[in-house]
Order: sequence, then structure tokens, then C-alpha cells
Amino acid sequence: MDYNKLAELLFPHIKGTPEDIEERFPRRTLPEGAKVTRIAPSPTGFMHFGTLFPARIAERLAHQSGGVFYLRIEDTDSKREVKGAEKDIIETLAYYQIHFDEGALADEKEFGIYGPYRQSQRGEIYQTYAKQLVREGKAYPCFTTEEELMALHATDKKAEIKNKDWHNNPDAEKEEIKKLRDITYEQAEEEVAKGNPFVLRILSDGDPEKKTPFVDLIKGKLEVPENDEDFVLLKSDGIPTYHFAHAVDDHLMGTTHVIRGEEWLPSLAKHIMLFRYLGFRLPKYMHIAQLMKMEGNSKKKLSKRDNGAAVSDYRENGYPPVSVNEYVMTLLNSNFEEWRMANADKPYTEFPFSIKKMSTSGALFDFDKLNDVSKNAISRMTADEVYAGVVEWAEEYDAEFADLLKADENYAKAILAIGRGGKKPRKDFAVWKDVKPYMSYFYDGLFSAEDTISDSFDKADVKQILTRFAEVYDENDDNNTWFEKIKTISESLNFASDMKAYKANPENYKGNVSDVSTMLRIAVTGRTNSPDMHEIMRILGKERVIDRLNKAANAL
Ligand code: GLU
Repeated sequence: MDYNKLAELLFPHIKGTPEDIEERFPRRTLPEGAKVTRIAPSPTGFMHFGTLFPARIAERLAHQSGGVFYLRIEDTDSKREVKGAEKDIIETLAYYQIHFDEGALADEKEFGIYGPYRQSQRGEIYQTYAKQLVREGKAYPCFTTEEELMALHATDKKAEIKNKDWHNNPDAEKEEIKKLRDITYEQAEEEVAKGNPFVLRILSDGDPEKKTPFVDLIKGKLEVPENDEDFVLLKSDGIPTYHFAHAVDDHLMGTTHVIRGEEWLPSLAKHIMLFRYLGFRLPKYMHIAQLMKMEGNSKKKLSKRDNGAAVSDYRENGYPPVSVNEYVMTLLNSNFEEWRMANADKPYTEFPFSIKKMSTSGALFDFDKLNDVSKNAISRMTADEVYAGVVEWAEEYDAEFADLLKADENYAKAILAIGRGGKKPRKDFAVWKDVKPYMSYFYDGLFSAEDTISDSFDKADVKQILTRFAEVYDENDDNNTWFEKIKTISESLNFASDMKAYKANPENYKGNVSDVSTMLRIAVTGRTNSPDMHEIMRILGKERVIDRLNKAANAL
């Protein structure tokens, strides 16, 4: 068979050779040990939380080694493509600060010299390599449709053509399959002349009885049975399958480490064969286990429909990107939390990310843990950072609240500064959504009495306490002076100011200074619990404090 003639028949429009293409994609010159990684999403759905994992791993491994991380859009399946998904992927990566050095940008743009970074624009490249495989007798056109193939297999219903398997089939079938694999030039010419479409199949020389030793960077040592299936390289419209595009693109783009979901592990044998047929060097692989969740007492895979699966939910609920990143790092490396405790102020990018510290089974997704990590992350922010984060979130999801925050920026920042900084910062919120209820009493429009002063105290006493404190309150008092005033009022109404004395003989008093403080707190904030009250009053300002005290007194 003259394979060159066959190649010309199938790909008359392809004039260039693989050598021409290799020239367009020069080898990267990078420092020793530098890793080139990528994230290669298909725009077939909106971004899943699980996608952040391989993306962050790939980003860390590249940037930690002085390498390159790029984004390639795998849009070869137009039937499954979801409108807006590509934009969502690009925006989500940017939002979570997963910065790539090359790749697809929004609005059909891209940057980098290894493009196009959208597979749909690389047709000619794939077909050039496909033509070469035909020239070398390693791939052949198959004009038999899937239905016809199905009909052919009397026993095994799969529409597959195999190198070895057909030996076990009944003789008639064997002959048919052999004919398909040994298609002659004349037969192909006849089909092409009739305008019949074909898929291009690899001509497998594999034997599944033989195993290739293989080391996956996460799964460890594996034995991969050789591929014996004549799988499809190009579909009838000339568009490559994932397998073929993966080999061609990761070779040309210089990927050193392929980080992808473990669902690709069963296809590895195909990829090993393809890289060999094409004469490409096999990259290193990391197959990431899926995220898990607890369901009762058993672990289950986190599915796309599960709470927590859609990345957009995190944004809507107001998890700051840095919290999500922290959580991803916590799940990725078992020693990250320990590092974080010792390095409270460092950006997570300074953590020495290591493949060795990754779990081989799926990491367990857990909202409580996420909230905990997020509270810690927010507690480390400055008031300015918190303000910026809340305003940005509120502008999108609670415009009224955003306006309120922006109406008096300094006021809002002073509230957000309460208990911030220092060794033990307050941990009041996990999400920006929590901020509004937390600070509502600072705004008259949002203020409401959630708690009321206990009925166990005499109303006249309570009234006295509130009105007297209103008379003496001075916003310039320091904490001590301020508290002395509360003690004085307490004593004058026979509420103990000395807690020891009170505990020794509670029956001698109407209550104690802590009760009095609580009355004031409820009057001013509407709640039994709040951060430091002296600070709260100072921020609220004299006028508002006195107004609230009087209103509470009058309501009695
Ligand atoms: N497009 C493939 C996917 O979305 C990419 C797998 C890979 O990273 O190679 O699953």
C-alpha cells in the first residue's frame, strides 16, 4: 500500500509537514527543573469547585519552579458547548487569582506564542500530524459508521475495533474487522469519490497482556496494560478527539506535567501509545482524585449538583477569594494549616507546595472547615481590606447595604476595625453576607432590638440607669473613666460594683455592675452580646448613644 498516496487522498488541503509546525512552536528555554503546566477546561458547563484544585496545583507547580502555567480551552465538542461557559472559566480563574502566563483571554483574545490556545482554531495543526500518521501506516480511515460497527459485532456490542480482540471473534466477524483495518487505497478512493465521510483511527499494535510500568506523581507506581483499541483520532468533521488533541497540544506547547482528573486514568494507555506513534516525549502525569463529601457515615464523590459544587455560589455567599484559596490549599497539602499557624501574615503563595503532601484519595469537602478557614483569613485582613471586600460584594448582591457603607467610609471602617489586629483578632465573619447583621446596629435604618432587658429588674431602676448614664456620657472619656461612671451609677442604685462582694452576698444587692452594663448594651446595640462597648459607643457618637438610651428608657 502506498501510504503517501492515501495521505494525499485523505488530506489534500494539508500542505505543510510536522517539521513546519515544530518550527512555529520552538522548544521553551527555561531554567532547569522549571515545570510547564496548564489547565485545559472544556466549556461544557460552569466552573465546578473541583476545577479549582488542578488549576491551583498546576499554577503552584509552575510558578514555584520558575516555569509557565497556561490556559487552553478544549472546545472541540461543539454539541456539548454551553454558552457563556468559556467566559465564566476565564473570569473565575481571574477572580481566584489563578494567574496564567499564556492562554485564552475573554472576547476571543489570547496571549502567548504557543497559540492558538483554543483547540477549535488548531484544526490544521492536528490534521498535519494526522496526515503524517497515515503516511507512516499508523492510522487509517474508517468509513464504517458506528451503527454498522455495532451490527458487525454479534457477540460484543461495543463499536470498537481492536488489534487483538478480533482474534477471538467468530471467523466471519474477524474477516470483516480485518478488512476494515486493512483498507486498500482503491477502497478508500472509491469511498472518497462517493463523498462518504470517515473517521481516522489509530492502527493499534498493542497487546493488553503486556503491561507498561508507569509512575503517576500522585497514584505512584502503576502497570498500564497496552492499548489494543483502534480509537478515533479525528472525527468525521476533521475535529480531533480529546486523546489526539492532548498529545499534539501538550507536545507543541511544551507541557512537562499534565495535571488532570483521575477520570482520565483509564485513557492513559491510549496516550502512551499516541505519544510513541508521534515520536513525542511523554510528559509526567498527575491524576487528581475527585473531591469527596460525607453522607452519613460514608464518603461519596462531590457531584456537580451538590451544595458547594458551583464556584459561583462561593462568590454569591461572599466568601472572599483569599478564603477559598486558603481552603483549597488546606485540602491540597496536609501541612498547610500548620504552616499557616506559624506564618499568619504571609501570602499563601509563600507556602512550599509539595506533591508529596497531597492525599492520594480524594480530599474531603466540609463547610464547617471552610467557614473556619475563612473566619481566620478574614481576621487577618486590615479594616481597609475588609471594607473593600464587603463593598465589592454588596455592590453586586446588596446594593442598599453598599450605599450605606459608602455613604460614610470612615464610619464603616471604624466599625470594621473593632477587635482587629493584635495577637487574637476577632473572628466574627466567614462570609461577607455575615457583615450586615454584625454591624446593623451602627445604622439607625437597620437597628432593631433583638434582645430586651430582663423583666427581673425593677423598671424604675432600669430607667434611672439609662437616663443617668445618658446624662454623664462623654465620648472623650477613656475606657477607665467611662467604666467608673457605670460603677458609680450601679452603686447609687445598690447594684454591686465589686463582683467579689456581690458573689459573697448576692442577696444584699439588686444586681451587679455586669447587669448594669448589659442593660446599657441592650439599649445601645439591641443585643446582649457585642464587641467592646466603650469602643462601640465612641464610634456611634454621643448623639446616637444618648438618643438610644433615652428611647429605651421611654419605652419602659
Ligand atoms: N478538557 C479536559 C477536561 O475538561 C482536560 C483534561 C486535561 O487536563 O487534560 O476534562
